[in-house]
Amino acid sequence: MNIHEYQGKAILKSFGVRVQEGIVADTAEQAVEAAKKLKVDYNSDWVVIKAQIHAGGRGKGGGVKLAKNLEEVREKAGHIIGMQLITPQTGPEGKLVSKVLVAQDVYYPGESDTKEFYVSVLLDRSRGRNIIMYSTEGGMDIEEVAEHTPHLIFKEEIDPKVGLQGFQARKIAFNLGLSGDAFKDMTKFIASLYKAYEATDSSMFEINPVLKTSDNKILAVDAKVNLDDNGLFRHPDFAAMRDTSEEDPTEVEASKSNLNYVKLDGNVGCMVNGAGLAMATMDIIKLAGGEPANFLDVGGTANAETVKAGFNIILSDPNVKAILINIFGGIVRCDRVAQGVIDAYKEIGNIPVPIIVRLQGTNAVEAKKLIDESGLKVYSAILLKEAAALVTKVLENK
Ligand code: GDP
Ligand code: MN
Repeated sequence: MNIHEYQGKAILKSFGVRVQEGIVADTAEQAVEAAKKLKVDYNSDWVVIKAQIHAGGRGKGGGVKLAKNLEEVREKAGHIIGMQLITPQTGPEGKLVSKVLVAQDVYYPGESDTKEFYVSVLLDRSRGRNIIMYSTEGGMDIEEVAEHTPHLIFKEEIDPKVGLQGFQARKIAFNLGLSGDAFKDMTKFIASLYKAYEATDSSMFEINPVLKTSDNKILAVDAKVNLDDNGLFRHPDFAAMRDTSEEDPTEVEASKSNLNYVKLDGNVGCMVNGAGLAMATMDIIKLAGGEPANFLDVGGTANAETVKAGFNIILSDPNVKAILINIFGGIVRCDRVAQGVIDAYKEIGNIPVPIIVRLQGTNAVEAKKLIDESGLKVYSAILLKEAAALVTKVLENK
């Protein structure tokens, strides 16, 4: 689950990571109030207005603006709120901005004495360990750095048995070229950041830039946080951070029914029990000459309700020309799934695309019989090969 910058910063702060302070606002008026409050706390008129969307590259897209007085706050916040912000990460349609973070300007005074770094904590799946990635080349173009000068990006691997060691935090601060107070502050920053990452069961914390201020403090100016969905049950307080308006609406609908759904661009919808079988089914669709329209794992306990929810979600995609249901009956009995398909079909009514059902495993033969005798426009198969041939056939008939 992705969260907004302001939420990520709140988490960081609660673990003692110093952050660029800010107050979130929904309207230009609230932004002005936020700026007044920040002025009392930090005694500076300058604030930065930052669009809150689940995508990076906001600076480049015009979603991060400096305001030097309250008039500018009103004007710039008013401009950013409601805009369709296009950044290198949003795709050409952009994302609607409904909130801004009004934050203290931490580059002032003395911008020339500041330095931007890149620091992230993430899971290196090939190593099976958490790593801290860092670079002196922080700021807006880390992707460019990774592509053209990858030797400027360092990695520090954490041994899960002993956790982050003091010498590792010092090594990072040293490699970032720091000394004196900034060096000390960076070691503290790294230690707290790592603690926050571990304690929240996150899969990524990316802080770009981490700033060394002109008075040698180290703080997080940005926060891109991805919380591991599989760990969310341990953090019920994070549920409120979910912003479904940032997510694909069909995926939100699917997660309500406990379905594991990812939308793709193809023409054959599929509904499968088990992630591995779902992957194999997508391969079969390609072999049959189609393109998968989605990944959909209905889980091990598919019943009429889940089948119906799955149908509705697949059918909401106008590109779908055929649906392939591929269920292996292990714990779940094929005849019950077949009945579920028939019931869901009747309930939804006129399904405009051909459906191919392949049921294998416990009671597969009974299931095929049920479908064949239902009188509905559903093709049944037992072997995957037969199912693939049926997909090819219905696509050719279109
Ligand atoms: P991103 O573009 O989505 O990654 O958003 P960031 O939060 O990283 O902000 C983009 C850029 O805005 C940063 O790299 C900074 O150069 C700049 N920026 C952010 N906060 C401030 C600030 O307080 N003062 C000034 N002058 N620039 C800032
Ligand atoms: Mn950034």
